Amino acid sequence: MIRNTNVEVQQEPINKINETIMETNPCNNNINGKSVIPSRVSRKPSQNDTIVNINGVLVGGAEIVVIAGPCAVESREQLFETARSVKAGGAGILRGGAFKPRSSPYNFQGLGEEGLKLLGIISKETGLPIVTEVMDTRQVELVASYADMIQIGSRNMQNYPLLKEAGMCKKPVLLKRGMMATIDEFLLAAEYILNQGNDQVVLCERGIRTFETSTRNTLDLSAVPMLKRLSHLPVIVDPSHGTGLRWMVPAMAKAAVAAGADGLIMEVHYKPEEAICDGYQSLSPDEFDLLMKDLKKIANAIGREILVSKVTAS
Ligand code: PEP
Ligand code: MN
Repeated sequence: MIRNTNVEVQQEPINKINETIMETNPCNNNINGKSVIPSRVSRKPSQNDTIVNINGVLVGGAEIVVIAGPCAVESREQLFETARSVKAGGAGILRGGAFKPRSSPYNFQGLGEEGLKLLGIISKETGLPIVTEVMDTRQVELVASYADMIQIGSRNMQNYPLLKEAGMCKKPVLLKRGMMATIDEFLLAAEYILNQGNDQVVLCERGIRTFETSTRNTLDLSAVPMLKRLSHLPVIVDPSHGTGLRWMVPAMAKAAVAAGADGLIMEVHYKPEEAICDGYQSLSPDEFDLLMKDLKKIANAIGREILVSKVTAS
C-alpha cells in the first residue's frame, strides 16, 4: 500500500499538538533576530542527521549521492540511452520528469503515465532508483506507484494540499526550494510533509530569483550550511536549474560539494542540443563523466565519498 492511512488523523488534534510544540520547543528560537524555526524539521540538540532511504540508496550519510538524468522523459531512446550513460558515469539515482511544470501551456507537458512506465522499465534494467515530479494532489498515488522518490518542484513548494498529500505518502520526498522562498518558508514547507508522518524528506537548493539576469537563477550556496545548521534533513543542490548554463554546472556542482551538500541533482541528456526541455543546461554524457571524476576529488578533500551505487541490475 502506498498511502499511509494510519496518519490520517483529525486536523483539529494536529493543530492542538502543533500549538504545544511551537510554544514549548526550545529550538524554536529566533535566528539573527529574524527567523523562527519550525519544529519537526529543526535540529534538536544532539540529534542525529536524518538519513533518507531511496530504495536502498541513502542520502544524508557520509556518502554524497549524485542524481542525474534528463529534465523530461521525451522518448524511450532518449531516456534509456541517457540513463545507461549516467549509470556508467556513477550516478546513484535517475531523474526524469513525466509531468512537467512548463511556463507556457503550449510547451511539451511531459509524457505522463507513459513516461512513468518508461522510468520503471529503465530503473529495473539499470538498478537505479528513480525520482520524478508530481504537480497535483490527484497524481500523488499514481506517481508514487512508479517512483522511488517523489519530487515537489520549485513552483509547488507552497502548494500546501500537495505537501500534505506527499506527507501522507510512504515514499521519500525531494522538496525543491521555491524560487522566491526564504529559508524559513522552505523549512515550513518541509514541516507540512513531516507533520503528516513522513520524515523522509530531502531539501534541494535550486537557485532563487534575484536582480541578476546573467544566470537563470542565483544559486544560493549559503543555503547549504544554513539549512544543515537549522535542520536535521539532508540537503542537496541542483546546479542545472541554479545556473541555467551547461558550462557553469561543473563549477557550481564542485562548489556545492565543498559547501557540504549531501548530494547533487543534475540534468544530463544523451544529445543536449536536441533536448525538448532545458537542453542548454544539460550536460552531455562525456561532460558528466568528467565532472564525476572531479567531484570524487573534492569529496575526498573534505573527508567524504561519492556514493557508488551497489544496487545490481535485474
Ligand atoms: C526539474 O527539476 O525538472 C524542475 C522543474 O526543477 P524546479 O522545480 O527546480 O524548477
Ligand atoms: Mn529542467
